[in-house]
Amino acid sequence: MRPRSEYSEPYRIKVVEPIEATTGEEREKIIKKAGYNVFNVPSDKVCIDLLTDSGTSAMSDYQWAGMMVGDESYAGGRNFYNLKETVEEITGFKYVLPTHQGRAAENILTTILVKPGKRVLGNMHFDTTEGHIRLKGGDPVNLVIKEGLETANRHPFKGNIDIERLLSEIHACGSDGISYINITVTCNSNGGQPVSMGNIKEVSKIAKEYSIPVFFDAARFAENAYFIKKREKGYENKSISEIVKEMFSYVDGFTMSAKKDGLVNMGGIFAASDKELFRRAGEWGIIYEGYLTYGGLAGRDLEAMSRGLREVVREDYLEDRIGQVAYLGDCLLDFGVPIIEPTGGHGVYIDAKRFLPEIPQNEFPAQALVVELYIEAGIRAVELGTAAFGYKNEETEEMIYPDLELVRLAIPRRVYTDRHMHMVACALRNIKERKDRIRGLKIVYEAPVLRHFTLEFERL
Ligand SMILES: *Cc1c(COP(=O)(O)O)cnc(C)c1O
Repeated sequence: MRPRSEYSEPYRIKVVEPIEATTGEEREKIIKKAGYNVFNVPSDKVCIDLLTDSGTSAMSDYQWAGMMVGDESYAGGRNFYNLKETVEEITGFKYVLPTHQGRAAENILTTILVKPGKRVLGNMHFDTTEGHIRLKGGDPVNLVIKEGLETANRHPFKGNIDIERLLSEIHACGSDGISYINITVTCNSNGGQPVSMGNIKEVSKIAKEYSIPVFFDAARFAENAYFIKKREKGYENKSISEIVKEMFSYVDGFTMSAKKDGLVNMGGIFAASDKELFRRAGEWGIIYEGYLTYGGLAGRDLEAMSRGLREVVREDYLEDRIGQVAYLGDCLLDFGVPIIEPTGGHGVYIDAKRFLPEIPQNEFPAQALVVELYIEAGIRAVELGTAAFGYKNEETEEMIYPDLELVRLAIPRRVYTDRHMHMVACALRNIKERKDRIRGLKIVYEAPVLRHFTLEFERL
């Protein structure tokens, strides 16, 4: 096993959670019973769980200690004021509303800002964001640069908004035709790819010119800042905190799922600079989430979130975090496993079309690889291909297949060691050696919406 670098993890381990061992034979039975869908596998039967990086972080001793000083008063609890102070210090935003998770903050923002029939422009809206925009009658438009959709293109900021397309959208429908602009940092939907400071600044300048509000979907704001420091000229000597502050200075507010860069298992934030807008957000917050100072969370959760936000902007933490994702990517490349390059902030994406070229798209190659990974070593990944995004055209009855057939290995924060990562890479190397014997799948059950959570398959 090659070491990642001469540095080690910037933490030591105080509490451990044992992993139950299963045999390949047992896993064959489990996955068959689960209809070859890893969402149906109990997590006790998973050895390394890379289903998502959302809400799966390990909290620090300082965060756990914060749970003991939870103030569970209905109104004005001390943990809310701590959180508010932290958010203001880190992002500069004074008006802060906690929510139970990211989509709840999106619900509030879209309720206030989306006008029916009008567009919401962005790099790539995350699926819950898109859902909320559509529910309020809006039209979400993705304007990521074309390099952002090319799996082998090594552009450093594949999450950037295409400025020309942004301007032509604005010219086509006028600023009245646009509800707001939403920049997702990092861009989750194409692999956690970062947005450059230059791009954020330019989008913000154009938005000001046309009086269009700009918001961040800030789920992975710290990971984005780290990429700016490493890849953008002029930022190499700035601290992460300075970069984060500058990023937020260009927008009018943000929604955030704290289940990612908040380093907590549950929580979200809505924040804005405009007092009037914030008042309206609070009115909806009270209806949907709870009183202004707790927003659907316990006081102790607010404290853990406040402390997590201070830890996530530490450079040694980010170096370790992003370094581990890159390390897994490098191991896979060494073994000849095709992945999206460069690796993004929160996971490694395997290109299943290139890995299993003999399996046609109508036989779910990415899902077949997810199944093999579970059987090989008890590793749970997620399919982002035909199972997740394929659909039937209602009129022509023709199946529409997505361009990409991906398997995502999402890496939880501070949970697994490099040895776990190396084991994941070895499992894929072993699968590669027997890949000619891997068979495709066919669907035996599907739900009418969001089918990939509950799909059931049989082996061909
Ligand atoms: C996870 C996520 C959300 C939704 O947040 P939840 O906490 O899961 O509700 C929104 N946007 C992005 C970019 C995300 O990654």
